[in-house]
Amino acid sequence: MDTNHEGLAPASILVSAGRQPRIPGAGVNAPLELSSTYVADGPVDYARAGNPTWTAFEEALGALEDGSALVFSSGMAAIAAALSLVPPVALIVAPNHAYSGTSALLESMEQAGRAVLRRVDISDTAAVIAALEGADALWAESPTNPMLEVADLPRLFEAAHAVGAVALCDNTFATPLVQQPLRMGADVVVHSVTKYLAGHSDVVLGATVTAGSERGRTFQDALTQHRLLHGAIAGPMETWLALRGMRTMHLRVERSSANAAALAARMTGHPALERLRYPGFGSIIAIEVHGGLKGAEAVAAHVRLWTHATSLGGVESLIERRRRHSGEASTVPENLLRLSVGVEDVEDLWRDLDAALAHVIPSS
Ligand code: PLP
Repeated sequence: MDTNHEGLAPASILVSAGRQPRIPGAGVNAPLELSSTYVADGPVDYARAGNPTWTAFEEALGALEDGSALVFSSGMAAIAAALSLVPPVALIVAPNHAYSGTSALLESMEQAGRAVLRRVDISDTAAVIAALEGADALWAESPTNPMLEVADLPRLFEAAHAVGAVALCDNTFATPLVQQPLRMGADVVVHSVTKYLAGHSDVVLGATVTAGSERGRTFQDALTQHRLLHGAIAGPMETWLALRGMRTMHLRVERSSANAAALAARMTGHPALERLRYPGFGSIIAIEVHGGLKGAEAVAAHVRLWTHATSLGGVESLIERRRRHSGEASTVPENLLRLSVGVEDVEDLWRDLDAALAHVIPSS
């Protein structure tokens, strides 16, 4: 691969990283190599250990996050790998509103006697710092899914390191275009590549990224070993699609963020809403509508351009009442709808959403 990305802006990294060397006649795109084994005595002997399509994707994501990336079969596989880095019976500080799959995994670790959890409001910096006393790990997510709480990540990572805790961060919601947690002091970043990085709702994939420091390299070696031995490896086809999707992430995120800002502005003070949650950046909005669970379900049932579906970060706009999922935290309101704003025309999105919101009866 061509590995010189020094001094390039994210847009240029997204377009250029992970390409083939410029040898006359070479393809401009990374190879899609469908092979489980390789001729002996080369750098990689078996495809659970390595694949040129992974290498291309990892080069691009690593350059973007300023670290070393590893691709996994899903975001949850990457999260499980990152959590394998914490010592046995680790005291882990984690957000009240971490992604529900992460919460379920953390709780299963606690039930099995492999971890002790301290849940915190990740936006309350003083409370998180107090909770870090004696901790082995900090799990950070900002903004949180789906409550959109925003954390002061540099201060939290500094506080985690001050007590000797490993700082882990899920950067799926923000994307490396908005924040680069390794540069803020995180030890390991995880992504659900399924979302903005791949961007087209056509793959399930995950990744870890570690810093270039000696400490980071130790984590990278442990994660590489974890992937090899636990076997949660990415399919080359999915990885290739994700890399193709990443080429336009800056354009997609620019448009979806602009759409989200415009929709948030129009929903401010809307009579159907009890509360609007929008952190001021990104493409996710959460709204709490009048009429409780039924009001929220009515909105989701009446959209036509938006799709009533789970997930986020694709080109298409999605809407979902999060408490439909039994695993969602009970502190997430029943009437909360998560909106993943896509790249459609904003006027069409607004017309459709506004019409669906008309099915909510405002309480007097
Ligand atoms: N992290 C966040 C913030 C998510 O929203 C999700 C999925 O929704 C995941 C991790 C899990 O990723 P995957 O579904 O790719 O396993």
